[in-house]
Amino acid sequence: MKIAVASGKGGTGKTSVAVNLAALIADHRLPVPTVFLDCDVEAPNAALFFNPEIKEKESVDVLFPHIDQSRCDGCGQCVDICHYHALTVTPKRLVFFPELCHSCGGCAMVCPQGAIDEKPHRLGEITSGSIGSMHFMQGEMDIGNSSPVAIINSMMNRLEQFQHESPTDPICIIDAPPGVSCPVVASLRKADFILLVTEPTPFGLHDLQMAVELVQDEMSLPLAVILNKDGLGNKDVENYCQDQSIPVIQRIPFSRKIAEIYARGDLLIQYDEHIRMGFEKTWSIIQTHFSDANESKG
Ligand code: SF4
Ligand code: SF4
Repeated sequence: MKIAVASGKGGTGKTSVAVNLAALIADHRLPVPTVFLDCDVEAPNAALFFNPEIKEKESVDVLFPHIDQSRCDGCGQCVDICHYHALTVTPKRLVFFPELCHSCGGCAMVCPQGAIDEKPHRLGEITSGSIGSMHFMQGEMDIGNSSPVAIINSMMNRLEQFQHESPTDPICIIDAPPGVSCPVVASLRKADFILLVTEPTPFGLHDLQMAVELVQDEMSLPLAVILNKDGLGNKDVENYCQDQSIPVIQRIPFSRKIAEIYARGDLLIQYDEHIRMGFEKTWSIIQTHFSDANESKG
């Protein structure tokens, strides 16, 4: 069971929902492992709430072309094969734009002069550990890199390996990056159910619509909405969800008390009984969704 928590924009309370839901599930002490993945690799901060015990850190590298300019005759064959325009020939030298490179290896393959070989380039690292009985994994991209997809893919591969080795299907909570771009797709593509977190403002509605388009229309994944800062703004998000038959399964009130708990880096479910009951209801709805899905499978 893989539940991803996503949002069309940053600052909606996505990570707060992800960590509180994961902590609540862990509190139930179910006879299956629980895994938390922080895939918000450009700004991972779930660890601030969990304070995990770190057991391992591993570098994530990709292969980038390394050009020997002295052998390059400027033929341009590498430029022609690069669909991402990461190479260009100038009168003096071949220029490489690492932020556009997808590490396909095509340029090295076609160079008739053998002027390109590939060298590992560090993108970031994956940290693994535990929070009580819950497994924890966090990806973090190094400053100066621009494509976190390889880090997220590497985390998904580790999760799959963990699933294969686990005697029972684990419950995974994935904290996805904000937005609707490639890193979000990489984080959601193995998920079975998506929680979209938004707030009742015009920006919240706009970004929710983009997220619904990605998750429901393009990826065909089941979803539900959690409305954070309920009471702020207007009813447009609720009306939109009603029109689209998207369930709003939890409302987290806009309150100073909640903002203070969050600012301290504490879990809402430990300090507010009403919020805890809201997360219990969300967990119960998710479980019902999975048991209905299993029944209809057969
Ligand atoms: S294919 Fe090789 S020789 Fe041709 S421009 Fe690229 S690096 Fe230079
Ligand atoms: S490895 Fe692929 S994407 Fe990167 S520069 Fe070479 S051809 Fe372009």
